[in-house]
Amino acid sequence: MARFGMVIDTAKCVGCMDCVVACKTENNVPEGFNRDWITTEVHGTFPTVQMEIRSERCNQCATPPCVYSCPTGASHVHDVGGIVLVTKEECIGCKACIASCPYDARFIHPEGYADKCTFCIHRVEAGMDPACVAVCPTHCMHFGDLDDPNSPVSKLLASRKHHSLMPEAGTQPSIFYLT
Ligand code: SF4
Ligand code: SF4
Ligand code: SF4
Repeated sequence: MARFGMVIDTAKCVGCMDCVVACKTENNVPEGFNRDWITTEVHGTFPTVQMEIRSERCNQCATPPCVYSCPTGASHVHDVGGIVLVTKEECIGCKACIASCPYDARFIHPEGYADKCTFCIHRVEAGMDPACVAVCPTHCMHFGDLDDPNSPVSKLLASRKHHSLMPEAGTQPSIFYLT
């Protein structure tokens, strides 16, 4: 079984926000909300200062607290690639998943259900990359099967230094950042 993930090269990301705009358009994300965003982090002290620019979204955790905390089963792990999704018809808008997500990746859609990044499953099932990955002008984002050692994402992880966000939270993120 595949486990879908993203590998994002922070050295190539210029913070242009094309991924953010593409997601809003592709997924009809309502005004005032975002499924992805840019974070800028500065490490070190002058004169050896380094800046990391990251395109962030739901980490599609392999151990997802949002799923475990959902009282109705609306938040679930999909058969295809282990993508964490919300069945909006089953969501009662209780926000338990929002409280349990360490990445602040979810929001309540104005129509009353929890919403977040879906890894663009509608595109992936049609053989395309997620919208944010497809539009990136620097090609810093890669999508694929983390369980396949021959996939481009696995090869990048095998050959480059990388990290995930808040590994101490025990969520096993499926998004990795090349440094
Ligand atoms: Fe759930 Fe948050 Fe993990 Fe996404 S990042 S799978 S919303 S806990
Ligand atoms: Fe589940 Fe919806 Fe409540 Fe989130 S807001 S925990 S998806 S019922
Ligand atoms: Fe948005 Fe799709 Fe990218 Fe997720 S994978 S941030 S839903 S464009």
